Amino acid sequence: MENSLSPGLYIVATPIGNLGDITVRAVETLRGVSAVACEDTRVTGKLLHHLGIKQRLIRYDDHAGEGDRERLLSLMANEPVALVSDAGTPLISDPGYRLVRTARERGIAVTSLPGANAAVMAMTLSGLPNDRFLFAGFLPNKTKARETVLGDLARVPATLVFYETAPRLEDALGAIDSVLPGREVAVARELTKKFEECRSGTPQELIAHYAAHPPKGEIVLLVGPPGDEPMGEVDVDALLRAALQEAKPSQAAASVAKATGLDRKTLYARALELK
Ligand code: SAM
Repeated sequence: MENSLSPGLYIVATPIGNLGDITVRAVETLRGVSAVACEDTRVTGKLLHHLGIKQRLIRYDDHAGEGDRERLLSLMANEPVALVSDAGTPLISDPGYRLVRTARERGIAVTSLPGANAAVMAMTLSGLPNDRFLFAGFLPNKTKARETVLGDLARVPATLVFYETAPRLEDALGAIDSVLPGREVAVARELTKKFEECRSGTPQELIAHYAAHPPKGEIVLLVGPPGDEPMGEVDVDALLRAALQEAKPSQAAASVAKATGLDRKTLYARALELK
């Protein structure tokens, strides 16, 4: 990497817990820029201290106004400026959208240095289908608004990924249980940290678990896509009826058990009732 960076905006991902999760390029860039724009100068100051880097820090958070943005934009038109957030990838449920948009409109060079991101890490850990996922940020705080958002997402054929906080987890799981019944859910907590866990189950199982073990720390909540929910009685009956047209109850129960993973004896009892 060159010693002198060209003017422009460098979006730099930082760790989401484990300080080892920062790239060599990120460290070199944070050392090489003229200033680092950050959400909280104390948080970024600690990270830079850990990395042995002394830098000029400029606060740029959710409350930043037009004036703050203009000052940063004129600086990055002439000098290299990094943008970091408190943790993970800037702009992903973090400040920076307007800054990047305006920089691009003005022809200022913008580049991004990839790294840690809680949503992607949770997606890789959860065991939920990952060929398609939809990152939906934070759910609203209010019950009705939360249910409306979940209802809007109900038909999306993808795993849904939300950012959550420990105090809101139970309400979020309750809303998923009522609006998206039967979906498999995963709670990814304290990623890259000492007490990292990823727990899957139905919303009700998870509510029961966290009632007994109140959750702490940061959370990503994932909801499996529609169609992955365990089969309801109607679907099972339909499968059994179809199987019974060609087979005896015991064989029908065995083939439906194989297809669904449900208990063969229970299916056999139901097959006898349907016969
Ligand atoms: N920009 C960050 C990223 O790239 O992941 C996300 C920032 S957002 C303000 C903070 C939320 O991210 C937390 O409420 C939590 O949902 C999620 N998060 C961040 N770090 C996490 C971690 N170590 N474990 C689980 N979730 C985390």
